[in-house]
Amino acid sequence: MRRLFYKGLLADTIEITGSDAHHLMHVMRAKAGQEVIVVDDSGQVGRMEMTAFREDAVTMQLKERLAADTESPLELVLAQCLLKADKMDYVVQKAVELGVTEIVPVKSHNCVVRYDAKKAAARQSRWQKIAEEAAKQCGRTALTEVAPITDLSALLQASAKDEQTEIVFCYENEDETTVKSCLQAARGKRLILLVGPEGGFTLDEAENVQSAGGKAVTLGPRILRAETAAVAAITVAQYENGDLGA
Ligand code: SAM
Repeated sequence: MRRLFYKGLLADTIEITGSDAHHLMHVMRAKAGQEVIVVDDSGQVGRMEMTAFREDAVTMQLKERLAADTESPLELVLAQCLLKADKMDYVVQKAVELGVTEIVPVKSHNCVVRYDAKKAAARQSRWQKIAEEAAKQCGRTALTEVAPITDLSALLQASAKDEQTEIVFCYENEDETTVKSCLQAARGKRLILLVGPEGGFTLDEAENVQSAGGKAVTLGPRILRAETAAVAAITVAQYENGDLGA
């Protein structure tokens, strides 16, 4: 059944507007009596029946509330240094499927792609759209926010003072501290997984991340492509914290 995210709280009657209403009416050619699953801002899920259509709105009635929380117990942020467009799209989609709470696209020294302010805003809304589609497709009960593109230094500044947050720094030159030991030591904390761009991190950046409290970890002896590293790091973090059927 089609799934929608509703900006508001479930009630006996709600109105869906905007692109979702457009899609239902003009793409799906929905009819009165058909049903959809609606997830509200608080993660409540309902089976709703479409009852009326206006030019830009679909009215729905609540048939049944569903106990359907699909979220991970872990608050997990992926801080992904900018990758070439198709790779970044891929990482956003997979991160959402794997239950990430927030994605921060990060600008670092070796990023190949550069965006001016207008393009950066357009990219952010494209990634947000990909995130919403992925969330609907995989049955999430919360939307993953995609933050504006953020400088690595600003990310570090914002996170350094937060004692309840651990920066798990996936670093290709680390060969001692394992991701497993770091995740186990950080149990119960919010995690930021920091993954580099295609060209990796500079030595200066690596030092700055660690000075800001980031824990450099290895994901094993092979150098993974950045998009593989992101998916692998998210997967082990979720598994270690009780998600993904652990
Ligand atoms: N150009 C770098 C080099 O040749 O050493 C490789 C960068 S790698 C393609 C991109 C990012 O993936 C890295 O910055 C890191 O965040 C992550 N990564 C890849 N392999 C990793 C590993 N074995 N351990 C930790 N992180 C890794």
